[in-house]
Amino acid sequence: MAAKNQKRTVTLIGAPTDIGAAQRGSSMSPDALRVAEIDLTLRRLGLEVIDSGNLAGPPNPRAKAQDGYRHLAEATAWCRSLESAVTEALHGGTVPVVMGGDHCLAIGSIAAIARFCAEERRPLSILWFDAHADFNTPATSPSGNLHGMPVAILCGDGPPELTALGAGPPIIDAGQVIQIGIRSVDHVEKLAVSESGLTVYDMRTIDEHGMFAVMEEALAKVSARGGHLHVSFDVDFLDPAIAPGVGTTVFGGPTYRESQLAMEMIYDSGLLASLDIMELNPALDLHNQTAELVFELVASLFGEQILSRHTTSFN
Ligand code: MG
Ligand code: MG
Repeated sequence: MAAKNQKRTVTLIGAPTDIGAAQRGSSMSPDALRVAEIDLTLRRLGLEVIDSGNLAGPPNPRAKAQDGYRHLAEATAWCRSLESAVTEALHGGTVPVVMGGDHCLAIGSIAAIARFCAEERRPLSILWFDAHADFNTPATSPSGNLHGMPVAILCGDGPPELTALGAGPPIIDAGQVIQIGIRSVDHVEKLAVSESGLTVYDMRTIDEHGMFAVMEEALAKVSARGGHLHVSFDVDFLDPAIAPGVGTTVFGGPTYRESQLAMEMIYDSGLLASLDIMELNPALDLHNQTAELVFELVASLFGEQILSRHTTSFN
């Protein structure tokens, strides 16, 4: 079980801000995950763990959108700070685990990872677990909340302050992104997604083919490309019946076992090199239930298994 983790070091990076979200509270997520003892579990799985603490950044001014974006200057400051921290973790030879915060922070973490991969001449693939495509622009998002826009911005459609992070624009190509669990796409956003070049396994696909087949195909694409796998995990990917602690719940998401299976298969692939955990909102959670679930999923991503050895011919 520990073989894939031997000599691997994880750097935990807290990014406590809800600057890009409609709902306040995801800023408390890093500490909720620490309360769930994420560090001890990762150590038990054979990893070295460095907790680099929480980043600092501007407070949430709770202002209205200006020129199509809410809190652009503040979000840019947070993303720049996170980009530096993730770059440092990667140059140190460790696996960055970003504990957000809202999902606009993925612009900062993926900017760092994309630049690092370009320098190392390693292909980068991103598995984006989410209920939402996060492919909005000001033209499709009246609210201007940046947590609905990170994939569009990463692919070069957004404000220059953010699209130029890392080695952008664009920071990445849409063909590098595989989305899983999508079930809420705004009307105009649908057209943009279908023309984007993103690979999308929506909930209908998961319903029809099952999580195993979907993950098998997704991981085969990543494996064929080789290189670095980044997982950007928006907690609202999970069905709200098991994960109520998020700001934008959408019914009809994956079950507990479907989610666990996806994480277990990523661990088995041996490809995971960096992780975002985004949108967990302790203010909306019930007795830290969602944080505990996220922590169990992270444990599976890093090698927790039901049994430590195979006992039947199916394994
Ligand atoms: Mg989402
Ligand atoms: Mg998201």
